[in-house]
Amino acid sequence: NKEYVRKPEWLKVKLNTNESYTELKKLMREKNLNTVCEEARCPNIHECWSVRKTATFMILGDTCTRACRFCAVKTGLPNELDWGEPERVAESAEIMGLKHVVVTAVARDDLKDGGAAVFAETVRAIRRKVPGCTVEILPSDMKGDYESLHMLMDSEPDIFNHNIETVRRLTKRVRAVATYDRSLKLLERVKEIAPHIPTKSSIMVGLGETKEEIEETMDDLLAHNVDIMAIGQYLQPTKKHLDVVRYYHPDEFAELKKVALAKGFKHCEAGPMVRSSYHADEQVSETSAQ
Ligand code: SF4
Ligand code: SF4
Repeated sequence: NKEYVRKPEWLKVKLNTNESYTELKKLMREKNLNTVCEEARCPNIHECWSVRKTATFMILGDTCTRACRFCAVKTGLPNELDWGEPERVAESAEIMGLKHVVVTAVARDDLKDGGAAVFAETVRAIRRKVPGCTVEILPSDMKGDYESLHMLMDSEPDIFNHNIETVRRLTKRVRAVATYDRSLKLLERVKEIAPHIPTKSSIMVGLGETKEEIEETMDDLLAHNVDIMAIGQYLQPTKKHLDVVRYYHPDEFAELKKVALAKGFKHCEAGPMVRSSYHADEQVSETSAQ
C-alpha cells in the first residue's frame, strides 16, 4: 500500500546549502574526493560540515565492486588505486577544520588486501596533518580477511565502525556479498585485536524487519562486544532500489534507543535521520572515557 509509505513530514527537510557548503563542495572536486555526505545526499550535511566539523570521506574511488540494493554508490569496474588520495583527504580535513573524520570506502573485492593499505595510510595521513582530529573507520567486511583487518587496525583508529545494515533475515535481500555472521565476526575480531578501541555498528529500519528482529540484532551485536549502535530510517535513493516498507515514527526511534541502552550499548543514536556517522564526534569521548 503506497499510501501507507508516503514520506512523513518529519523527513521532509530542506537541504541547507549555504555559502560554506558550496565552498566545501568545490574543495572536494578540486581534490578529486568523494564524500558519503554528498553521495547519499545526507540531510545532516550542514550540521556536520559547518557546525559539528565532521565529514565522511569515501575513499578507494567512486565505484564499488558490490551492488547492495539500498546503496546509491555506483557499481562497476573499480578505479585505479590512488596513492595520492590519503594526503588529499588529510589536506581537506585540515582546510575544513574537521574535528572528527569518518573514513569509509567502496568495497574493493578486486584487490588482494581489499584496499586496506591505502585505507590505513589515510588514517595516518590525517593523524599527521590534523593532530587533534579523531578518526573513525568504516570499512567493508574485507571478505573476512583478517590479514587486511590487522593492517587496518595498525593505523590505530579512534573508532572502528562496520555496519551490519539490517536484521539477519533480510541480509540476503539487502546486502551484496556481505553476510550477517561475517560482519559479526569481524566486529568481534576487532575487539580481540584492540580491546581499547570502541566498535560500532548501524542498521537501517523500514525494510520490513520486525521489532523482535531488531532486538535480536541488538543482542547479536552485544554478544560480539559492540559498544555503539546507530539506528536510522532507510530511505530509497532511487526507484531502482529497495522500497521503503515502513517509516518509523520519531517516538519509535526513541523507544528503540531506550531498549538498546537498557540492553547494554554504551551509546546509541536512533532517529529518522540518524546515519552511521551521525553525532560520531560525541561517541569518541563518551566511549573512551570508560
Ligand atoms: Fe556526512 Fe554522516 Fe554527517 Fe551525513 S551524518 S553529513 S554522511 S558525516
Ligand atoms: Fe554501497 Fe558499501 Fe554495498 Fe558498495 S559495499 S554497494 S558502497 S553499501
